[in-house]
Amino acid sequence: METYDYDLFVIGGGSGGVRASRVAAGLGARVGIAEDYRVGGTCVIRGCVPKKLFVYAAHFRDDFEDARAYGWTVDEPSFSWPTLMANKDREIARLEGIYGRLLEGSKVKLHKARARLLDRHTIAVGTDKVTAKTILVATGGWPVMPAIPGIEHCISSNEAFELPDLPRRVLVVGGGYIAVEFAGIFRGMGSQVTISYRGDCVLRGFDQDIRATLQAELAKKGFDLAMGSVVESVVKQPNGALSVTLCTDTATRLLECDAVTFATGRAPNTAKLGLREAGVELTQDGAVRVNEFSRSSVENIFAVGDVTNRYALTPVAIREGQAFATTEFGSTRIPVDHATIASAVFSQPPVGTVGLTEEAALKRHGTVDIYKTDFKALKHTLSGRDERTMMKLIVDTKSGRVLGAHMVGADAPEVIQGIGIAVKAGLTKAQFDATCAIHPTAAEEFVTLKEKRTVAA
Ligand code: NDP
Repeated sequence: METYDYDLFVIGGGSGGVRASRVAAGLGARVGIAEDYRVGGTCVIRGCVPKKLFVYAAHFRDDFEDARAYGWTVDEPSFSWPTLMANKDREIARLEGIYGRLLEGSKVKLHKARARLLDRHTIAVGTDKVTAKTILVATGGWPVMPAIPGIEHCISSNEAFELPDLPRRVLVVGGGYIAVEFAGIFRGMGSQVTISYRGDCVLRGFDQDIRATLQAELAKKGFDLAMGSVVESVVKQPNGALSVTLCTDTATRLLECDAVTFATGRAPNTAKLGLREAGVELTQDGAVRVNEFSRSSVENIFAVGDVTNRYALTPVAIREGQAFATTEFGSTRIPVDHATIASAVFSQPPVGTVGLTEEAALKRHGTVDIYKTDFKALKHTLSGRDERTMMKLIVDTKSGRVLGAHMVGADAPEVIQGIGIAVKAGLTKAQFDATCAIHPTAAEEFVTLKEKRTVAA
């Protein structure tokens, strides 16, 4: 029988890779993992976690304003970017330490080096060479920067987490998750923010009511919304400022700013890994093609997380890693369940969503009932803030089953996490209605919605 150095070798120490390696080790496998940067991956080091810390920081701007109507007097608040950065860095270092200790405690051997497949069982790790019976690719994704003149002066979310100073004027390019989240972050800290998006309304792919509500709120908050525009070029001036040429179908606009952040999507990290040479099939967009057990076209090579470009979300990568390890090293075969995944956008106000959009529900079910509300949250009756909360349920007319739940408004991610259980469980509108409300909350609207609009495809 052939012997290998490891039963499992994982390339990439992010959420999916770390979970898979720990579960496999717990099931008795000899596991090695390679990470050439910091253990924790995008989510912990330069994604979800530091982003959420920044979002908290950004929210204080509006909170200080809202506090006045509640009797609080706050001296002119000031914000220190270096303080936030130092505290964020300390927390990320702490989490990185925890990830490292978890690996150590699970007896997973960490190789702090870049790995590359030499063949389907052999991996070059830095200057070493190791062999493994099974290999898991969990290398994540990387921001895509379009090839425009001056792109070298622009940053992605990676660098936005490390900026030495807060830019006074920021252009954010894109209309997806990262664009609206970072736009809100920069505005909250005090920057003037322009959003340039090639489409006409942010968050393409989300329910139309979410998109329209969020865009209206962004406009109210004073974002300069350059919809239908593309960045043609960026020129760095001698004083360090960036001159950006923004073009629409009908006009050209010159914009001066101090930072240009591209949030124009992320691509799977599959280059220079020796994957094709080892026979691993990639999709057209460069992702590792896998089946429902995360197995690639090569029998002993698997992939989980963003590198597979299924759902680029941390909890999904973790589930994929767990399912892979349990299937390969345990006694149960677990395919990954990708149905009805809830997600959130930490914009201001935030978005929470689970299940089908109205459009998708109509396509799949023919006729649906729409329950929608749009109101001023109780908090803002005193604060006077002109912010609307939008909540919407999409219900299958025939079965009464709730197919989708969508919200824009304070705490939407927290609310939708709970509602997600009900939608995943296939509960009906009648069962939502049978649930007693918690009063006064915004979330109670999800169990008290009465007004219905029936829509047919
Ligand atoms: P998204 O795919 O969400 O958005 C990319 C945006 O960039 C879209 O608006 C797209 O426009 C635009 N775009 C793409 N290419 C170009 C181009 N060449 N020129 C101009 N605009 C362009 O990607 P993100 O980078 O925002 O995020 C990547 C993924 O990471 C998300 O899809 C999500 O899965 C995950 N993520 C999740 C978060 C969360 O859970 N809260 C937070 C951050 C990221 P168009 O709409 O026209 O295609």
